[in-house]
Amino acid sequence: MLKNRPVQEQVLIVLSLAIAAILAPFGAYRLIHADWIIGIFDISVTLLLILLSINVYEKRHIDVAKKALSIFVFSAVLITVYLKGKPQAVWLYPAIPLIFYLTTPLIAARVTILSIAVMAFLMHEKMPLFELMTMIFTYLGTGICSFAFGYQWHKHQQELIALTVTDPLTNIKNRRAFNDDLATLTTTIKHSEEHVLLIFDIDNFKHINDIYGHDIGDNVLISITEIAQSILPENTELYRIGGEEFIIIFHGITQNSAEKFAHLLRHKIASAEMLENQQVTISIGVAGYQESGYCPSKWFKRADKALYRAKENGRNCVSFASSPKPKLL
Ligand code: GH3
Ligand code: MG
Ligand code: MG
Repeated sequence: MLKNRPVQEQVLIVLSLAIAAILAPFGAYRLIHADWIIGIFDISVTLLLILLSINVYEKRHIDVAKKALSIFVFSAVLITVYLKGKPQAVWLYPAIPLIFYLTTPLIAARVTILSIAVMAFLMHEKMPLFELMTMIFTYLGTGICSFAFGYQWHKHQQELIALTVTDPLTNIKNRRAFNDDLATLTTTIKHSEEHVLLIFDIDNFKHINDIYGHDIGDNVLISITEIAQSILPENTELYRIGGEEFIIIFHGITQNSAEKFAHLLRHKIASAEMLENQQVTISIGVAGYQESGYCPSKWFKRADKALYRAKENGRNCVSFASSPKPKLL
């Protein structure tokens, strides 16, 4: 049942159910012994945790579930300590590593320090000083070890994510990043502004590789990336989406400015002396989001079609989805 779910969902569901299973017998014990307030509280948290796991299973809102689980666990620990005192204080030990799993190391560290402070406040009159200090320092020790583990895990996680969206040759975003960005963009994009997609492809690159070798071909890809980056306006993303194909997404730009940029890019690349005895050129296809009916796949296809037209018209030129004739300005 859970096997086909992403590992994060599996862990959250199992974690919520496991904590509910640990808490339930304590709630039942309290109710049997007519310890109503804490008994009802424990059973309520148990039920909330079960509901949370059902919610993750059905709605898949991972971030909301992580926040809810953190709140349930920490409020349960602190409220039971407030109600029942010292014997409950041990529950903060498992809660500390849990928060480092559920959130970023910095937020988890803040929650841990705050909880230790609240715990010290609740316990300072109920424990001898030495015992109180031992409790605080062992909490801190648990927090420091959890931080070390959580920090390293979080960093590795970020590095892995960066690797999956970065092109290793040019160090710019790759096709996966483009697909992800396009999917999120279309939900956040402002329709009051124009957004323009520009696709460009190196002309006769196979020939360049054949004549000069693959390594020199790689250097051409790097040089073209650097030229594009050097003139890229702010708020603009450059992607390498395939072998010698690149994409630029412009936000809040007029078609006119995008057109000027496309011609500048084409000119800069054509006039850069990347190879001996051979000019390197690119062909460019341009399409607006608005004129593509605010449809991301149509937007991409129209820009790609415009690029194809630029190739058909002899390469080293710019073609616009909105106008049939490619331009060489
Ligand atoms: P066109 O003008 O129609 O675009 O012709 P083209 O030769 O550029 O296009 P084609 O698709 O025939 O060839 C693309 C070449 O790009 C083939 C492939 O060997 C080369 N290529 C793809 N990725 C890389 C890479 O990472 N490094 C190098 N050096 N070459 C690459
Ligand atoms: Mg090409
Ligand atoms: Mg190509």
